[in-house]
Formats: sequence, structure tokens, C-alpha cells
Amino acid sequence: MDEGVQADCLFCRIVSGEIPSESVYGDEVVYAFRDINPGAPTHTLIVPRRHIADVAAPEAADGELLLALVRAANEIAQQEGIAASGYRLVWNVGPDAGQSVFHLHLHLLGGRQLGWPPG
Ligand code: AMP
Repeated sequence: MDEGVQADCLFCRIVSGEIPSESVYGDEVVYAFRDINPGAPTHTLIVPRRHIADVAAPEAADGELLLALVRAANEIAQQEGIAASGYRLVWNVGPDAGQSVFHLHLHLLGGRQLGWPPG
């Protein structure tokens, strides 16, 4: 899934620091920042530093990276104090899910009772 770094990609530009973001977590492979239009009191986006369009065609070699994203999300939930109250992890894929940025990102939402099914 790894497609390098793309100069015209919003999240590549956020990861590089060219576009400012409110960082909540970072390590060698993962970066996380607050969503600019939060849907809940905690709404962060967890992204791979390298450009990957979406989660539609994962390969065995991507397992470690996907695990790193989920682990980072769980750690941020602890940091944000929502691990016990609960939270939601979301991958939006394609138009019906409303995917608007084509750099893989995991949404972490929490801090209020979340409706199900999502709208
Ligand atoms: P998706 O609709 O799943 O592709 O999610 C993209 C998310 O990126 C949306 O929730 C947007 O609010 C968020 N977003 C767009 N631009 C920025 C930005 N500059 N900084 C932080 N979040 C952003």
C-alpha cells in the first residue's frame, strides 16, 4: 500500500509540518492530530507518515503498520481520558462513507455518547 510521499496530499503536508496541525501523538511511522472539524469532544486522526490512499487493499506486509495505527489510537484514548468511557475507531472508505482525504487515516471519536448506526 506504500506510495511514498505526495506533495499534493493534504495529510502528507500536515505530516511534514508544511500545514499546521495540533499534534497529539507521533512516532517513527505514525502521526496523529486533532480533526479541524471535530464530530465529538475528542476527534483525532491517526495517519501513517508515508502516503497510503486508503485501507481498501491491504497486503500482509501492511499488517505491522495497521497495528501501529490502532495501537496509537488506543494510547491517545488513554491520554484523552476516554479509554474507560469508550470510543469509536472509524475508517471511511469511498464516497458512501464520505471519505474526503485520500491518505489513510483512522478516526478516533469519543467523549460523548455516540449514536449507532452512524448517520
Ligand atoms: P474523511 O472524511 O474520512 O476523509 O476524513 C477527513 C477528515 O479530515 C475530516 O474529518 C476533516 O474534518 C479532516 N480535516 C480536513 N482538513 C484538515 C486539517 N487541515 N486539519 C485537520 N483535520 C482536517
